Amino acid sequence: MGKLFGLLGHPVGHSMSPHIHNDAYRQLDLAHHYQSFDVPEQQLKAAVEGLKALGVAGFNVTIPHKVAIMDLVDEIDEEAKIIGAINTVVNKNGRLIGYNTDGEGYLQSLLTHTGERLKEMNVLVIGAGGAARAVLTVLDRYSVRTITITNRTLEKAEKLAAECVQNVKAETITLTQAEENLHDYQLIINTTSVGMSPNVEEMPISLENLRADAVVSDLIYNPVKTKLLLEAEKKGATAVSGIGMFVGQGALAFEKWLGIEPDRERMEQIVLQHLEGKHADR
Ligand code: NAP
Repeated sequence: MGKLFGLLGHPVGHSMSPHIHNDAYRQLDLAHHYQSFDVPEQQLKAAVEGLKALGVAGFNVTIPHKVAIMDLVDEIDEEAKIIGAINTVVNKNGRLIGYNTDGEGYLQSLLTHTGERLKEMNVLVIGAGGAARAVLTVLDRYSVRTITITNRTLEKAEKLAAECVQNVKAETITLTQAEENLHDYQLIINTTSVGMSPNVEEMPISLENLRADAVVSDLIYNPVKTKLLLEAEKKGATAVSGIGMFVGQGALAFEKWLGIEPDRERMEQIVLQHLEGKHADR
């Protein structure tokens, strides 16, 4: 019998997750179904209890529930505890186990562009929200050379440096200092929402002092190439879109639920087709 999987968020109407998961089930001849559920904050507890009572096999959690869900599961994986957020829940014999696949999904995507060089890199992380927490936690685990965090609100960057970076030398700087010292960094990661559609002309920082051998990574995947990435490419740098992270977190959730590796390239194509409005839903 087919299993039910889901996504809890608010709003969830534009999520790509049902497309990549349902397509993967079809490809593997599985009778499962992945359904989005638009759940307002005050309904989260009831929704989670309902899914548990129905024996739903697993679900993803997105904005604004990634932190609140932590009080509603039976067990939390260590990395999700450090990140302070859950995006994937597995129903294991009636017990809900919370994981965070955002960080590992990001790391796997990044490594396909940097390879082992990542260990030698001085990294600048722009932003200090939930996505930054996931990115910082995996960069610290991977032991990059140094981590510098910059953010519009500097106190938030200081809090993240203290909470998410334990093994690597870390510091915080202002956005202006980041722009002036940009040549110091081999890897620059935008974890803010600046540049996301429809504000596609915005950039979180100026790239005037970017090194030509730098890697610039943007967590945003709509547009697939933000202005930051287009400007980086003009300077000869390598641009990494957030699409790889999105597919990575989804593929890792798929593996946790079903023990099967989905076709990530196909998942990426599905997202691209939907973003370009070319996909004919069946
Ligand atoms: P969040 O917790 O709300 O954090 C937003 C961050 O952006 C904060 O650092 C905030 O700075 C900064 N920011 C927002 N507007 C700004 C502005 N106008 N100028 C300067 N800084 C600004 O959001 P999040 O959950 O971390 O998500 C951030 C981005 O990552 C979103 O674009 C999201 O789509 C993307 N994301 C992608 C994936 C993926 O799979 N590819 C996964 C997760 C998230 P302050 O602290 O000063 O407010």
